[in-house]
Amino acid sequence: MRSAVSTHWESCNLNASLEQQDLDHLFHPCTDLAGHSRAGPLIWSRGEGVYVYDSAGKQYLEGMAGLWCTALGYGEKELARVAAEQMETFCYGPLFAGKSNEPSIRLAAKLSEWVPIDGARFLFGCSGSDANDAQVKLVRYYFHAIGKPGKRKILSRGNAYHGVTVATAALTGLPAFHKHFGLAMDEVIHLTSPHFYRQGRPGESESEFVERLGQELEQVIEREGADNIAAFFAEPLMGAGGVILPPEGYFQRIQPLLEANDILLVDDEVVCAFGRTGQAFGCQTYGMRPATMTMAKALSSAYVPISAVAVPPFMYEPIEKAAGEVGIFGHGLTYSGHPVAAAVAVRNLELMEERGLINHAAAMAPAFQGALQRLADHPLVGHQRGIGLIGGLELVADKESRQSFPAAEKMAFRVAAACLEEGLVVRALPGDIVAVCPPLIIDPAQIEELAGKLERGLDRALKSVQ
Ligand code: PLP
Repeated sequence: MRSAVSTHWESCNLNASLEQQDLDHLFHPCTDLAGHSRAGPLIWSRGEGVYVYDSAGKQYLEGMAGLWCTALGYGEKELARVAAEQMETFCYGPLFAGKSNEPSIRLAAKLSEWVPIDGARFLFGCSGSDANDAQVKLVRYYFHAIGKPGKRKILSRGNAYHGVTVATAALTGLPAFHKHFGLAMDEVIHLTSPHFYRQGRPGESESEFVERLGQELEQVIEREGADNIAAFFAEPLMGAGGVILPPEGYFQRIQPLLEANDILLVDDEVVCAFGRTGQAFGCQTYGMRPATMTMAKALSSAYVPISAVAVPPFMYEPIEKAAGEVGIFGHGLTYSGHPVAAAVAVRNLELMEERGLINHAAAMAPAFQGALQRLADHPLVGHQRGIGLIGGLELVADKESRQSFPAAEKMAFRVAAACLEEGLVVRALPGDIVAVCPPLIIDPAQIEELAGKLERGLDRALKSVQ
């Protein structure tokens, strides 16, 4: 008699191509599902340094570091060795009920050297989304513990990206992440996106724009009541929302209002942390004073899934007391503090230190930003922006009026597809923005290669609509 397993494999039709099996069996996240059914997948088979290779062997410069995450680049044998060693020694043990494991302890200690929040403790998760979801719960738990249970509402912003769980998708300020999902939106308030190029009014200066955003926050606090607002979530710069840099003086205008009203600034460093802006953390680049911080992605350079929340002592102490009354602190994932993920993250941070990767990113930034600036004159580019080793090109049909292309043209997708033809991975974001965010190990020659391929991709896309 055949086993259920062998029957299953036969039904997969082993003769079918990988592409066909993808089309038959995979549910792709964040994908135009109908478009995917027509076009089929691009299947990666390996990576080395800043390059990835598809299943036909074609080489691409990975200009997006995957999803803003492969900071140390591909094929780092040292991380593979550490993962294998940890799997052999001790593959898994939970942190529940006070049990611990050496890699998690070492990672928390290592992060306490990096993170600019004195005395922070670190709660580990598996993704940026679950970490931000934990943040929502933690700020509420904290306010409950100090006798302010009314402080529940969360402030976020248009264009923000904080994840895809029920709570964090509600924080995310992008329509595609809300529509049809039936989220719990009623305790989230979205403020105006700090995107001066799009949200600035005709004749308004950048400082007037910042003042307007400050006044908006004042009005929202007045309307909702400070006693009802727990936290303000902010990426130092917005990544997936369009590589949006805060306008000059933005956090300096916002922060005193938050502090005066006991609203916690939750710093979502999932994209920025560990060198992306040319400093260890985006909050340092923009003078933010975070209460708490969320990290993921470059924490392990994406070799394994892991995220971390930094919890300051002023929050931890009342949380500890309140949890004592309940019996336990009732939050945690099976894989919070997974020893393999923690061991890889520790080694990843050590390699960053040993190789001076943050300084390298800062040193490469002028060449990288200069290369992108040269593209500002391209007929398709309405606005070019960036800092450190991250940049964005906002595409427009008319530079003068800043008019966008009709959505049906899918211009940023055209550019991304044309770049693939050229052997470069970039990302099309909502709002016709092309994002670039290479591994932090990129060198000057590779920056030139990236810029050349991006320019040819833009040219190809332009031709396709002329
Ligand atoms: N926060 C930010 C700023 C992000 O960019 C992302 C993902 O891109 C997330 C949170 C969610 O992280 P994840 O996709 O690991 O759940």
